[in-house]
Amino acid sequence: MPPGNNPDSSRPLPETPKFNGPVVALAGGVGASRLLRGLVHATDPSNLTAIVNTGDDREFYGAYVCPDLDIVTYTLAEVVDLAKGFGLKGDTYGLMDALGSFGHETWFRLGDRDFAYCLHRTLRLREGISLATLCDQHRRAHDLPCRILPMTEDKAPTRVELDDGRSLHFEEYLVREKSPANVRSVDLTAAERATPAEGVIEAIDDAEIIIVCPSNPVVSVAPILAVQGVRDAIERSNAPVVAISPIIGGAPVKGPADHLLRAIGCDVSARGVADLYHDWAQGFVFDEVDRDQLSEIEAMGLRAIATPSLMRDVEASTRLATVAVELAMSLR
Ligand code: GDP
Ligand code: CA
Repeated sequence: MPPGNNPDSSRPLPETPKFNGPVVALAGGVGASRLLRGLVHATDPSNLTAIVNTGDDREFYGAYVCPDLDIVTYTLAEVVDLAKGFGLKGDTYGLMDALGSFGHETWFRLGDRDFAYCLHRTLRLREGISLATLCDQHRRAHDLPCRILPMTEDKAPTRVELDDGRSLHFEEYLVREKSPANVRSVDLTAAERATPAEGVIEAIDDAEIIIVCPSNPVVSVAPILAVQGVRDAIERSNAPVVAISPIIGGAPVKGPADHLLRAIGCDVSARGVADLYHDWAQGFVFDEVDRDQLSEIEAMGLRAIATPSLMRDVEASTRLATVAVELAMSLR
């Protein structure tokens, strides 16, 4: 399909043309996993590597929680609680309820089986096993052909500073405080000090296509790029970089991207996201409702396509992933 043509979202899926070379996807949580559900059909999944944000990671109740890594793994494994977008479907909350009864704060609710995996990860990390190894074991346990890599082994918490002077861990901002609008700034200094996990730079160097998932640009994509050497590797790569907008019609589909984009002085629009990415991306896919921004986005030097981009089901995800992959192929 030539760039500029829209796939008809009401048509059944055509036999998906696959790109069989190595592909890297930069991924956060929910938005990324929705795209990855399709990207595994638009590419050869055994040649696909998701490099995942770990800026949201934190210890809760003694267990090390990696929200984005687990959302991606559980979504691809089709065991995610689809209604919530995270956690395991059918999970129970006995542990949380019991902790609450002892007076512990339970604003970060983990299901029992979810908790068990996080505790397992904590114990293995203490034994000296790397997070990358654990992620690899986890995806293999779920029979996933796609590689899932943490951006770093280092602790790299994203912090959010509010207008009232408080500095919060990202999960405190998102979950405990329910993502208020009064954000002054976002602090990625921990990610800037972090070194990439083993395999991250190699995957970028080997990639023939790089896809930036429709993840939160400020707290999912920016932390990955902030890790030492990652942005340089992307900039020196010959692989075309195609990004997908998480902003549709001037608003995020879900989550606080609007408040966070405003805090970094960025317009809450497809055009605003394109402006953040155009220095290192060559292609941009955004929703057809924002088609009037096409010429402005192309004027930034991006090859852009407006297309339906709401991923309600795996077919919609596959269609959107295919548009992004075909755009990348046309840029090679
Ligand atoms: P998080 O870590 O769980 O917040 O997940 P991400 O950073 O990967 O994704 C959050 C972003 O995904 C939000 O800004 C949403 O607007 C975006 N998003 C979620 N679902 C969709 C969708 O169906 N289409 C598009 N284009 N963006 C989506
Ligand atoms: Ca996240």
